[in-house]
Amino acid sequence: MKSSYLYDITTQLVAAETVSHQASAPALELLGSHLQDFGFEVGLQRWAGGQKANLVAIAGPPEPGGLVLSGHVDVVPFEGQPGWSREPLALGIEDRRLYGRGTTDMKGFLGQCLDAVRRLDPASLERPLVLLFTSDEEIGCLGGDRLAAELPSLLGETPAPRLAWIGEPTSWQVFHAHKGIAGFEVEARGDGGHSSRPEEGVNAIGVAARALVALGELQEALRSEGASAAMQALFPDAPYATMNFGTIEGGTASNTIAEACRFTVSYRPMPDDDPLGVYERAKAALASLEARDFGAPHRAGSLEVKAPFVAPGALAERHTPLEEALFAELAQDRSGGAPYCTDAGHLARTGMSCLICGPGDLDRAHQPDESVDRAAFEAGPDHILGVVRRLLGGRPR
Ligand SMILES: [Zn+2]
Repeated sequence: MKSSYLYDITTQLVAAETVSHQASAPALELLGSHLQDFGFEVGLQRWAGGQKANLVAIAGPPEPGGLVLSGHVDVVPFEGQPGWSREPLALGIEDRRLYGRGTTDMKGFLGQCLDAVRRLDPASLERPLVLLFTSDEEIGCLGGDRLAAELPSLLGETPAPRLAWIGEPTSWQVFHAHKGIAGFEVEARGDGGHSSRPEEGVNAIGVAARALVALGELQEALRSEGASAAMQALFPDAPYATMNFGTIEGGTASNTIAEACRFTVSYRPMPDDDPLGVYERAKAALASLEARDFGAPHRAGSLEVKAPFVAPGALAERHTPLEEALFAELAQDRSGGAPYCTDAGHLARTGMSCLICGPGDLDRAHQPDESVDRAAFEAGPDHILGVVRRLLGGRPR
């Protein structure tokens, strides 16, 4: 077994209850206290009455040319998720894999960052090393949004680094782009009554059905819209904005005209498109729709499109020193597009060029019995130290 510290800190991280609806501050306080011991200057950006936080930890001189290592501490829920044969909050070690919620997405990378910087002499860094650990990534990159908004003041006199490495699960492949994610809720309102007299009410489920068909037609149109050759190469499976209907609820009983029906829509815009473009088109499509059901053609209900959430896509420049360092360290020579969204879209607003690369396996993320390959996990701290020393100098302590 490699460094027991790597296993210890990752065990504590997996045990920390950080499903996105829970408090993240205790886990970040734990990491912050370790980072202080390792010579980092640590600050927490708090919200939700102090229950939620992002962590900013800085080592090295306040010079330009720094590097960010970033990851999120929140995880997706496991309660009620079928298929678990293990305790989700207990790091399980079995032959060649490590099991537990967050092992692949992405507490494993956070543990590796801690183990790497523990072995680094911070006084020997020639340029700053900045750790940015976020919350609420899994519910729309909300923590990254807050962090980006206040990053200059959180960094104090340290200039914001231009290069950022986000250790989301990629099986150590390098990705320089991903689509964004945005979504909104639609509420159909009708007029209730007895189901035997549909013409005297307006059925909100019927109204919602017309809205769903209109949005489905938009989804079909998006599929057939062209993308540049560069975007087709990055996203060969779906070189267009994809759309999903996530949830729907409405009505109270089978013999009652439904008064209300709500459904949620999300979509993943291409990184070179306006992230709100599909939302605006959806709004226009529903605004031109008559909000009628099928049983009372002379009466109208209403459709309301709620305000959207948006996590922008990311499209980083190529051939940066970080890309070269990752390629050299990982013996790779190509970069692609990630199929999921990360904090990169928000961090890019601060001028950062973000690359996504981490030890986890995407097909294990968010799954029951989530796991990470043990060799990939144990190799992480050396890869991180290798990249840090290539870019920032620095010696082992
Ligand atoms: Zn993640």
